[in-house]
Amino acid sequence: MKNLLDLELKKINQMLKEGVIMPIDLVEEFAKKVVASDLNAFITLNLDEARKQARLLEKKEVDNILFGIPIAVKDNIVLQGVPTTCGSKILENYISVFDATVVKKLKEKNMIIVGKTNMDEFAMGGTGETSYFGPTKNPLNKNFSPGGSSSGSAAAVAGGLTPLALGSDTGGSIREPAAFCGLVGLNPTYGRISRYGLVAFASSLDQIGPMSRNVIENAHLFAAINGPSDDDLNTSSEKPFSVDDITKKEKYRIAIPRFCLTKIINADVVSVFLNCLDKIKAAGHQVDFVEVPFMKYAIPLYQVIALAEASSNLLRFDGIKYGYQTENYQDYDDFVTKTRTAGFGTEVKRRIMVGTYVLSSENVDVYYKKALQVRRELTDEIKAVFQQYDLIMTPATVSTSLILGKKREPNESFLQDLLAIPFSMSGHPSLVMPADKIDNMPIGVQIAGRYYDEKTIYAFALELEALVRGDESV
Ligand code: GLN
Repeated sequence: MKNLLDLELKKINQMLKEGVIMPIDLVEEFAKKVVASDLNAFITLNLDEARKQARLLEKKEVDNILFGIPIAVKDNIVLQGVPTTCGSKILENYISVFDATVVKKLKEKNMIIVGKTNMDEFAMGGTGETSYFGPTKNPLNKNFSPGGSSSGSAAAVAGGLTPLALGSDTGGSIREPAAFCGLVGLNPTYGRISRYGLVAFASSLDQIGPMSRNVIENAHLFAAINGPSDDDLNTSSEKPFSVDDITKKEKYRIAIPRFCLTKIINADVVSVFLNCLDKIKAAGHQVDFVEVPFMKYAIPLYQVIALAEASSNLLRFDGIKYGYQTENYQDYDDFVTKTRTAGFGTEVKRRIMVGTYVLSSENVDVYYKKALQVRRELTDEIKAVFQQYDLIMTPATVSTSLILGKKREPNESFLQDLLAIPFSMSGHPSLVMPADKIDNMPIGVQIAGRYYDEKTIYAFALELEALVRGDESV
């Protein structure tokens, strides 16, 4: 039997229950596909362990929809006994010593982790091209990037290698690749999912989230990994999300920040977005344009806050505790300098320098503290919109996927996340899903919701998915 992995989870689940297939069939199909693939989606495969686990599952009852399903995990999430490189030379030989909380949760559901996916180095980038292990290709057109930084996770799912993947999102790293690969990606409410075992980039923004081929499968994966955890004190004690919470509303009130029409956004993207809004209005929902003036500061805000936090988080990579070590050095300072100089790539070094600059005693008030104030203003503006509306919608990205191998300005890696960053800053949940295609490449829309209200996002996204497909009655 071929291409089991392309089937809907519901169908795979049914076949597993009926005993028509075994988990090992899914693992073997993945193994065959990944060997034949030239996407460069994975940094490390976990095939021996995956096969072993699949065999063990044969003795267990198929008790949930994720049972036996192969999943790809971004390589900044630790899996005991397996390398975690973060796409960097500095961690090339680092083997994880424990399981991230999300990994434990995947194992509780008897999912099979088949590999660790390629990514921009330390999640810093938007095309996958800052990875020490080379760029990942977009399965929909291999001359293009799948987006980043969760480039391998997106390519694995869009390329039919695994039905599901975990990514991480600091300022768009799940949502931008989801948009570029025609997938569904969720950046949950900040604090919904434990970050224990996620290598930190910017701790006040970092989130782990699900990537999938459709909305309901995304919700299943999110349900499996969310919830409070003693491992991460930022996780919320709010009742965890469950797929049963998704209930359809007759009419959604949807706000569109007028900023979405800014000239920075490609005209084709705007026209797909407006077209999508027409369908939503025709289905009876309320769509209003609103002002969110601080959205325009998203990128400078991110550049100060994310980079400041990164410069501090990445201090731990000094070559002493883990990872790459330089061989020739004179003293401690020389050792650390040479290790970090050779171990980090250009983009990471640039960001550490900018972050250190904005945190330095003479600049901290001008840049960092100011940015915290602006972040508060932006958050208040978004919260005010949610007092009157259920959802906020925007285009997902500024353009369609970017061609690989082109020389880029340093700022380009941030630009695509112009509309994703505001919700990272405020901590609101937001989901990206495909709306249409331009020149055969997908265009996504973003749906943000109130804190802990992923259920409304999913309920609406399910309806929009049917509208986009052109189903008759929704
Ligand atoms: N593209 C953005 C950056 O380069 C976002 C990355 C992320 O969310 N990890 O930082």
